[in-house]
Amino acid sequence: MRISDDRYNRDRQRLDIAMHFIRHEARTHTIRQWTGLTDDRIRKLYRSYLQDGGFRLARHRGKSPQQAAFFLRSVRLRHEAGALAGLCCLVGVLERHQGRAGSAPLACVTRAAALCQAYDVYRAIVAAPGISFEHAVLLVNALARGSELALDDCHGCGALLVVDSLALRPARCVLCTGEDPRRVPACNNAHSARPAP
Ligand SMILES: [Zn+2]
Repeated sequence: MRISDDRYNRDRQRLDIAMHFIRHEARTHTIRQWTGLTDDRIRKLYRSYLQDGGFRLARHRGKSPQQAAFFLRSVRLRHEAGALAGLCCLVGVLERHQGRAGSAPLACVTRAAALCQAYDVYRAIVAAPGISFEHAVLLVNALARGSELALDDCHGCGALLVVDSLALRPARCVLCTGEDPRRVPACNNAHSARPAP
């Protein structure tokens, strides 16, 4: 009885997380990777979500965003990526000292729940978010790999920053360099995060 209860709870958690990912317009393969659900079950969840009135949901197909350099393209994106990465550290999706090469894969249902939590807070504190949920997944994966992006402290104030892992100059945040993230568009061709339905 206990075993079946545990299984039921784990399955329930996977479905809840998958629905959360769907509402954030995550792609099917991202949902599969982080929840372990089959494509067939994810398709059924999409259908039930649509039947329940979530008809404004965009279904993205094709590859997820791949370019980690996206987060360094503008002052605003660097600023937002630092905030989101800090939230991911707080909830345990990321470790402060990254570079997990060879360690366990990042994607799992427990971290998926924490990632949703961090992303929801990011969406709540940033007026017009420039980082979509799929880009948030790219951010945590790139930071976990550590080959393109890394976490660093601002040398002026100690704020957590997302930086080019090969950068030679000491990292400084937008406040310490006097840049204003509000004046710089997130990215001309970036697909901005849209409000949750
Ligand atoms: Zn600073």
